[in-house]
Amino acid sequence: MGETIIPLADLRYAAPVPRVPAAAPAPNGLVADRLGRPLHDLRISVTDRCNFRCSYCMPKEVFDRDYKFLPQTSLLSFEEITRVARIFVAHGVAKLRLTGGEPLLRKHLEGLIEQLAALRTPAGEPLDITLTTNGSLLERKARALRDAGLKRVTVSLDALDDAIFRRMNDVDFPVADVLRGIDAAIAVGLAPVKVNMVVKRGTNEHEIVPLARFVRERYGRNVVLRFIEYMDVGATNGWRMDEVLPSDEVRALLAREFALERLEPNANGETAERWRYADGAGEVGFISSVTKAFCRDCNRARLSTEGKLFLCLFASRGHDLRALLRGQRPDGRPWSDDEIAAAIGLLWSERDDRYSELRSAGRAEAGSGERRIEMHYIGG
Ligand code: SAM
Ligand code: SF4
Ligand code: SF4
Repeated sequence: MGETIIPLADLRYAAPVPRVPAAAPAPNGLVADRLGRPLHDLRISVTDRCNFRCSYCMPKEVFDRDYKFLPQTSLLSFEEITRVARIFVAHGVAKLRLTGGEPLLRKHLEGLIEQLAALRTPAGEPLDITLTTNGSLLERKARALRDAGLKRVTVSLDALDDAIFRRMNDVDFPVADVLRGIDAAIAVGLAPVKVNMVVKRGTNEHEIVPLARFVRERYGRNVVLRFIEYMDVGATNGWRMDEVLPSDEVRALLAREFALERLEPNANGETAERWRYADGAGEVGFISSVTKAFCRDCNRARLSTEGKLFLCLFASRGHDLRALLRGQRPDGRPWSDDEIAAAIGLLWSERDDRYSELRSAGRAEAGSGERRIEMHYIGG
């Protein structure tokens, strides 16, 4: 079968067309990569656009009026996304996370969720479908999302103080609107809602305790607040190690105010270290991608808005699945699901990415001089 190398559809990031092996066993849900890691989680970016300009993700100076976002024709359609998701599910994926950019900017997203919610694992189970959002449109959309089959939602919220929040989103968006989005998500049954706070030393570390106190008091067990170390994703945010506040320091700040107890992890490959308030008021999590790399359990693949597959958040090279979805075999027939599954299985079985571990060991390089993918493009 052909191994044609089609010219790159979008030159922003290198993405060769995956090789379709001539003979491959049908997916059995057990594919593992070179480090023995299964494929369990697919993150799907549904848009590269966003109505915020968080400086750690889409700094205004870069993502300005002249920035060329992907054209509409480049985006995978909902049918194409669902087809890819179905193939990944056959390989063992049980969890889908929609992200972006801001996923709620994609028109009629509930239509996609409906299609994804109809998929079943090989054992006949529904998928765990979740969404990461900045919360700005959540109040309006929570009910439709839930009705379509969304199970859970993660809301990003970096500060409780309105002035700091407006400065961090850099579009003067008020924090009260995001809080109303969280309220709406809980009200329609999407609880417990995860709330993610990216902590940047010198920017919002004074918000850690006030936000924790607020969440405990207002939401109790309906919200799990998670603190995320500021990461060196992409190449535009001017990341510096001295702006990273290690999770251990965040926890020490919290421990001065609240008694915390460590919890067991509840899923293999879970990125957050879980703790709970000793008084039973709820749970907090710490995502320490910089100081405690968790590559060993990384079972996540990422699909970009225009159908490129990335095997690591820090990759500079994707794999152009859209070329297989829209292209043809050398004999003119479209590629079948089985053939695309075989190509994906081969890619995963050859995966050996572990960027964060190498960074911790002082051995990470930014790839072979190629530009790393940006967070707004691939999602969290
Ligand atoms: N726009 C949505 C949002 O903000 O939730 C979804 C996409 S956003 C890229 C996904 C997550 O990545 C957010 O929780 C955001 O805070 C996080 N993120 C973006 N840049 C980051 C960075 N440099 N370090 C750590 N987390 C980052
Ligand atoms: Fe937009 Fe989310 Fe990036 Fe902020 S973190 S700029 S909300 S995509
Ligand atoms: Fe996974 Fe890459 Fe992050 Fe390691 S650095 S946890 S391999 S995405």
